Amino acid sequence: MIQINQIKNFIYKIINQDLKNKKYKKIHTRFPPEPNGFLHIGHAKSICLNFEIAKIYHGKCNLRFDDTNPNHESKIYVKAIKKDIKWIGYKWNKKSFYVSQYFKKLYKYAKILIQKKLAYVDQLSKKEIKKYRGTLKKTGKNSPYRNQTVKENLKLFKDMKNGKFKDGDLCLRAKINMSSANIVMRDPVLYRIKNIAHYRTKKKWCIYPTYDFSHCISDSIEKITHSLCSLEFLDNNQLYQWILKNLNIKKHAKQYEFSRLNLEYTILSKRKLKTLIKNKIVAGWDDPRMPTISGLRVRGYTPESIINFCKKIGVSKKNHLIEFSLLEHCIRNHLNNIAYRFMAIINPLKIIITNLPDQHNEKIIVNNHPLYPNMGTHKIYFNKIIYIDKNDFQEKANKKYRRLTMKQEVRLRYSYIIKVQKIKKDSFGHIKKIYCTYDKNTLNKNPTDRKIKGVIHWISKKNSISAKFRIFQHIFSIKNPDTTKNYLKYINNKSIKIKNGLIEKNLIKNTDIKFFQFEREGYFVIDKRETIKNKKITFNKTISLKGKKY
Ligand code: ATP
Ligand code: MG
Repeated sequence: MIQINQIKNFIYKIINQDLKNKKYKKIHTRFPPEPNGFLHIGHAKSICLNFEIAKIYHGKCNLRFDDTNPNHESKIYVKAIKKDIKWIGYKWNKKSFYVSQYFKKLYKYAKILIQKKLAYVDQLSKKEIKKYRGTLKKTGKNSPYRNQTVKENLKLFKDMKNGKFKDGDLCLRAKINMSSANIVMRDPVLYRIKNIAHYRTKKKWCIYPTYDFSHCISDSIEKITHSLCSLEFLDNNQLYQWILKNLNIKKHAKQYEFSRLNLEYTILSKRKLKTLIKNKIVAGWDDPRMPTISGLRVRGYTPESIINFCKKIGVSKKNHLIEFSLLEHCIRNHLNNIAYRFMAIINPLKIIITNLPDQHNEKIIVNNHPLYPNMGTHKIYFNKIIYIDKNDFQEKANKKYRRLTMKQEVRLRYSYIIKVQKIKKDSFGHIKKIYCTYDKNTLNKNPTDRKIKGVIHWISKKNSISAKFRIFQHIFSIKNPDTTKNYLKYINNKSIKIKNGLIEKNLIKNTDIKFFQFEREGYFVIDKRETIKNKKITFNKTISLKGKKY
């Protein structure tokens, strides 16, 4: 049992009570993903909940692949799911489990229900079944096949298993109550025919159990104590208990439902995410704009930031739409502490310091982090030719503009104050370069005769190499695409911008550094795959600095 002040949500309260009442000695949870896609941030919520409970109560958490629908499942997804959970930092109990390893047991259990006259093979079509099921306002209607004899049902079920039928010809249904107020209880389907090879069991089976039938039994086989799932399974809870009770399985878990994570500007459904990939809106599951764990990883998110986000959103029984800024806050907070500070120029503008000799090469030592000296230092160089960002110069500016103008001086970060002498434009009127002078008495000190308002970042030409920057926005232009019918209509077609700029040469010397803050620009991470593809060091922008957009 854990202390009352450590109780994090209603599920902890239930577990504490169960331990107090000696209902269980050890707590055992499970995370049951279907291997039909990559995990997303919604799954992270469930992962954190299940694995944290196991950790805090010194219990266990199983990883169980819910692989009962061979149409969309594959080994690729199994591998990706394992990689993501490991990356978040959780270890599952023993090897992973698969519902497919219980297919034989499940088949036997199905036959028991038939023998108990609690299941029958229905010959209605899928469409008819739906029609017979009724609605919330209209009760259902019994199938004409509901009263077949046990013998007939056993024979048909065996024939189903032996591949004598086409998909959808027949299915096994529980015989419960077609006029139940809970539609889930109106003779739910327990088995369906799928003449397709399964990625693990190959062609051994052509009938597959449904989630409802297999989930509760799998939980009991694995001795799960608390079966936690999202709220959409609320109505299925009754069926979960009905199946176990009627199969006489005494020792079993209880199902508790919690709210799903819904996040602004994105969709959290593997099926819909797959559509984005199919329609080439994103490059793949791990595209940095995707809300997938792998996408967030490539974007530069850390496991700590994801776990912290899951802690902050909490677990309740009410669905909310969570602000995207909360996730951003979590990563920004973490990166603020761990990212190495460097300078990068995303939109280069050439500056020539006219009062410096060509060979001038002045070394300046810069801290890698303003607060943590143990993160070390690196060198930058002040030379005759430097680059600043185009956005840091304006020919005509209003008073609020605190950067370089024709009249206004500016400080180069860690260095001197510069002043414009003249600008050179190309034939289109675009500024090509700016000639400036520097004030040699202003290294790390302010002049006494005038006030300097702005500080800008810069890189000297000699100390720079070119780099690509990938800057992202949300994939969707509306806050709630997940609950909008035609979500593809709201794609933001400006969700990626690619820029060619410059970084400090020194940056690539230290290959251990993972996370960067480019001063005044934001947090960035190297994209290894894009770097190889572009034959140029390529960065993904993780997140802007606090208070800045994109
Ligand atoms: P999807 O619609 O993305 O395919 P799913 O629920 O079908 O989601 P599963 O692989 O079956 O995906 O999910 C594994 C576990 O993760 C389930 O217990 C499910 O309840 C939970 N889960 C999935 N999405 C969310 C979410 N958005 N918030 C919280 N938990 C989630
Ligand atoms: Mg599912």
